[in-house]
Amino acid sequence: MPRLSEANLRDAICHLGASLFQRGLTFGSAGNISARLEDGWLMTPTNVSLGCLDPARLSKLDAAGKLVSGDPPTKETFLHRAMYEERQQAGAVVHLHSTHSVAVSVLADVDATNVLPPITAYYVMRVGQLPLVPYHPPGDLGLAEAVRKLAGKHHAVLLANHGPVVAGSSLDAAANAIEELEETAKLFLLLRGSRLRLLTEEQVAALKPA
Ligand SMILES: [Zn+2]
Repeated sequence: MPRLSEANLRDAICHLGASLFQRGLTFGSAGNISARLEDGWLMTPTNVSLGCLDPARLSKLDAAGKLVSGDPPTKETFLHRAMYEERQQAGAVVHLHSTHSVAVSVLADVDATNVLPPITAYYVMRVGQLPLVPYHPPGDLGLAEAVRKLAGKHHAVLLANHGPVVAGSSLDAAANAIEELEETAKLFLLLRGSRLRLLTEEQVAALKPA
């Protein structure tokens, strides 16, 4: 797939932000989106709603992470950089505080190496294994290190009592994966307490990443 031009990427980030906001997947100024450029990154600015992003005011960072133009970037930029540094093929990263994923991140009895079970084939293909990153308070750079440790092997991680961070080869891929994660978290909560017929190990092994 050809990489989008910077202008198209700016529009695509704003379009995605508005779509996530309108569907209740983000609220207030929570959540952030980034995309890789030839010479750095585009990042959503700090203290701004994803529902009303301005393409011209997105933060543009150089390869070293320095602000080149636009508004100051999200204070969670370090999460995105940890993902990109460990995943050379990542073209975009989306981080949300989406309700159902956060709810699952608070449950005491989940498997921290893989939080959600294989409920559907699409979840397995788009997200796969989902490790839980231990809780860190806002601004604690120890969180970047904790994400970095997992990011080489996992394009999706769930921050405990906080929310998911998902990388994709493109903006669409990252968005599709984080939306699949959120819907699967919702299904998981709906199904709690029920006897389940999950995909078997063989059925999971037969699926290829989407
Ligand atoms: Zn966050």
